[in-house]
Amino acid sequence: MKYFKEKELICKCGCGLMPPPEAIDALEFLREAWGKPLIINSAARCLDDNKRVNGKPSSPHLPAKDRKEPMYRKLGGGGFDIKMDPKDFPAFEKLALKYGFRGFGYGSNFIHIDNMIRPIITRWTY
Ligand SMILES: [Zn+2]
Repeated sequence: MKYFKEKELICKCGCGLMPPPEAIDALEFLREAWGKPLIINSAARCLDDNKRVNGKPSSPHLPAKDRKEPMYRKLGGGGFDIKMDPKDFPAFEKLALKYGFRGFGYGSNFIHIDNMIRPIITRWTY
């Protein structure tokens, strides 16, 4: 990895889980194109850690095999919550779409992106 350290992406519980390699690659390309540092609040989560943060059972932060989802939604994966000023959301989303991210969650001071295989681009707020 060029832009991120393992400790920024690894599950916070200490289990050693990392996001899927293809999701890390997409994040690295996105970071390169963005041209500014990105602060990751949350990336890979195991089932225990997802429960700890009250994540949904279908959370893209979980490994595909552990997600409670229909089969087609188990393809792809890799969720990243990135600290961000909402004024940057439109430009960042536009760029993230180019690198295969199709899920966008908007928080008050962060954005969630993921590259789960989705039939349509999906957006939500927290
Ligand atoms: Zn864990």
